[in-house]
Amino acid sequence: MPRPILATVDPAAVAHNLARVRQCAPQSRAWAVVKADAYGHGIEAVYPALATADGFALLEIAEAARVRACGWTGPILLLEGFFDAADLAAVLELKLTPVIHDDAQIDFLLGARPAAPVDVFVKFNTGMNRLGYADGRGRKAVERLRAAGSIGTVGLMMHFPEADLPDGVVGPLARFERETAGLPGPRSLANSASVLLHPATHADWVRPGILLYGGSPTGDRDGPAFDLRPAMELTSELIAVQQLAPGEAVGYGQRFVAQRPTRIGIVACGYADGYPRHAPDGTPVLIGGERCALAGRVSMDMLTVDITDVPQAGIGSRVELFGRALPVDEVARHCGTIGYELMCAVAPRVARRVIAGGS
Ligand SMILES: *Cc1c(COP(=O)(O)O)cnc(C)c1O
Repeated sequence: MPRPILATVDPAAVAHNLARVRQCAPQSRAWAVVKADAYGHGIEAVYPALATADGFALLEIAEAARVRACGWTGPILLLEGFFDAADLAAVLELKLTPVIHDDAQIDFLLGARPAAPVDVFVKFNTGMNRLGYADGRGRKAVERLRAAGSIGTVGLMMHFPEADLPDGVVGPLARFERETAGLPGPRSLANSASVLLHPATHADWVRPGILLYGGSPTGDRDGPAFDLRPAMELTSELIAVQQLAPGEAVGYGQRFVAQRPTRIGIVACGYADGYPRHAPDGTPVLIGGERCALAGRVSMDMLTVDITDVPQAGIGSRVELFGRALPVDEVARHCGTIGYELMCAVAPRVARRVIAGGS
């Protein structure tokens, strides 16, 4: 028998979440963000549910090629653009829409004298201070690209650092409007948080990622509170049970010490499966549908849960690490991280199942 750990991906949930994007931003086209292998869900698994999006957005050429292999002929936004000449050749061949955030990329692109016009998006830095042009240099980049014969549409984009906060977009939005005033071209600003919280940012193209997978983009509300459906469930089983007397401990470092006669369920899931090793005691785990508390340090292949109050639980009981009944956001909060990281961390060794025909 294989280890019972399983990641189940539900394309119908992804389709529902894309419909939420359409409800929230009915006037905008939508780039479906599928970077990091669709946030760990698998590009091919979610593609059918996202095929009504207006475009796909991702980082790597290899992932763009996989989207093309799925049959996608529409636009693909390359979120960090290209890095070298080999990348650029693939951009032209796969007809990608690169983000331009640096003059070296423009030199490269114009130097390659593309045979067919290349659409691009110029990235403006409005305070994130990772990628993009600030202080009027974006306008110059746009003008240079627009003057070149080999360039098609020149779009304008930015990324918000604090769109999860109620008033988090005001400053960057004003800065973007100032930097791009009078420039033509489609605009793209909004990530998931902006799609859900800030209609003023929706513009021509939105760029939702995490919400497509049912995760929350904010720390204070879980995905279901935004009517999002979890697209991934990480499940396993109890493979053993231990009885501890008061004062006995469990696992590496003996972190959890029983205060009462304690039953410990041993779950086939560890940090080598992507579950965070730093999960503290008390992190919720569902055992046979009942909420239980992680007890003891997560090890490589196993984790341990206090199942004292679930007497019916035993070897073979179903375990949900996160999913429909236990939002990934809640688990992430206990672990001091975000649902994004837990989804992306699910390891290649975890078996995957894609629900056919929807849920
Ligand atoms: C990842 C990413 C997104 C999507 O962000 P979410 O918070 O997952 O919606 C949008 N835009 C850019 C530039 C990104 O890198």
